[in-house]
Amino acid sequence: MSTRGKEQTINGKPVSTGLAEGCAFVYHDELRSLDAPTPIVASDVEQEYSFLEEATNVISEDLASLATKVEKEMDSRLGAVFEAHKMMVNDPSLKKELQSEIRDNLVNASSAVRSVFLRWERRFLLMESQISRQKGDDMKDLSNRLSNALSGIKVNRLEDLPSGSILVAKRLLPSDTVFLAKQSAAAVLLEYGGTSSHAALFAREMGLPCIAQIPNILQRIHSNDTLLVDAESGTVVLHPGEKSKAAFQKKISGRKAAASKISQKAHKPAITLDGVNILVLANIASRADADRAIVNGADGVGLYRTELAYLGMNAPPSENELLEEMQHTLAPFEGKPVNIRLLDIGADKPLPFTGFLAESNPALGRRGIRLLLEYPELLDTQLRAILRLSKESDTRILIPMATLAEDITATRERLSVLSRQLGSGKIPPLGIMIETPAAALSLQEFASHCDFASFGTNDLTQYTFAADRENAAVDSYFRDSQRAIFRLMEIARSDAPDLPLSLCGELAGRSRHTEEILRCGLRSLSVAPPLVPIIKDRIRNLNYAKPNTTHRFPRDH
Ligand code: PEP
Ligand code: MG
Repeated sequence: MSTRGKEQTINGKPVSTGLAEGCAFVYHDELRSLDAPTPIVASDVEQEYSFLEEATNVISEDLASLATKVEKEMDSRLGAVFEAHKMMVNDPSLKKELQSEIRDNLVNASSAVRSVFLRWERRFLLMESQISRQKGDDMKDLSNRLSNALSGIKVNRLEDLPSGSILVAKRLLPSDTVFLAKQSAAAVLLEYGGTSSHAALFAREMGLPCIAQIPNILQRIHSNDTLLVDAESGTVVLHPGEKSKAAFQKKISGRKAAASKISQKAHKPAITLDGVNILVLANIASRADADRAIVNGADGVGLYRTELAYLGMNAPPSENELLEEMQHTLAPFEGKPVNIRLLDIGADKPLPFTGFLAESNPALGRRGIRLLLEYPELLDTQLRAILRLSKESDTRILIPMATLAEDITATRERLSVLSRQLGSGKIPPLGIMIETPAAALSLQEFASHCDFASFGTNDLTQYTFAADRENAAVDSYFRDSQRAIFRLMEIARSDAPDLPLSLCGELAGRSRHTEEILRCGLRSLSVAPPLVPIIKDRIRNLNYAKPNTTHRFPRDH
């Protein structure tokens, strides 16, 4: 018996918060059904090679202009995805594999593209890590592009998406998001994708509610079905009755009223009921993030992730290029404090120019400061750029993955040498990211080497619970609000009572934990730009010294 038309609730994983009501627009993966290979004769092989070459050139140009456009108009993180796609499609080994598919199986270029990319996509999708699965998405996206270029197709059905509708799809690829950005969807529902997928990143950037991991989505939701999307709880009501619609409307109006009240005070300081000023800073990675952070009233930048200046590059940026990039990104924060994190890369995110060596367990390998100390030129370039920047701004430095005292002393040593060379006089405060249990338990020793510290609970949780932050299969072990994490923060606080402590992991942005976080003795929090007003509001309603006894602490998760 069909259940179409009857109210039912569907659950998934909320990856971008918010509420929305509207009609479903189901986006099908159309190219997948055109799979019959087209045979050719041996004398056509060369011609098919040249079709392939032409299509590769066409999409390389498209991807380059897309990357520039997206970087300018949206976010450089998404821009970097298209830069990476351009590199992938021009990879000589891919070209070789495509050519041998045409030659050995005597199929045309389109058929070769479909089968080679499908093989790669499946390989990646079978892997467990989120990053590998994302690569599967990248492969699919590229395959669609190449197939379209080979057959001259230029349309994307997402262009037909009616404004205000709820996009329903198995998954969303990076190029889909560009079309989607031009439309005004109300929400996105997906079968695949985790918190760090392209789709989730895009949805958060655009402020679109998004629920992922809805099993068999295309069998359950059909075009024009009415939906109520609650991406706070991760529930979708399909075919809602009048009663549910009315209750949902009430909830939406309540949220709107609360949000407008909260945003009116966003630019005021966050002072607790007992008079303690807590800095609410922003985590940023690009100029677009910085602009959003300022609009939302951030008191400064608690974490500037600098990886974007390096990803997808064939050579590291020069000191001047890096300085320019930092000046551009941080311009909205003139006069406000900014923490610049040294490059946190390595292991599973290799840079092409570092001569990456495979490691059996990359998360426990050379990442963050470990890699920088191995590549001193990389470290020196960053330190010199930051030293020059600090002449004109309130800049501080954050060391990623500091685990041993030597990680800090070696960095400080380089900083002093370079400062003398540059004659810069002023040395910016040097802080550490507390991302390993070892660091959290070593502050008695570390406090004499650094000026401040910030808890990176995303990694601290991964290493405390031995649960890969990218692996959805161990999601239930990744508990960043468990007592174990708070205990580490409390121990760190009591071991180094005078060291300024902050928190910049995702946990800092969840208002139901703000009180418990502040009880660990923290005076500053750094969160995603749209969350600044919400966290400030929460702080204004609690006591710092004497916690509000009427507030009951939530259970973990
Ligand atoms: C963290 O680990 O909590 C953190 C803020 O750094 P990232 O998420 O960039 O690793
Ligand atoms: Mg980290």
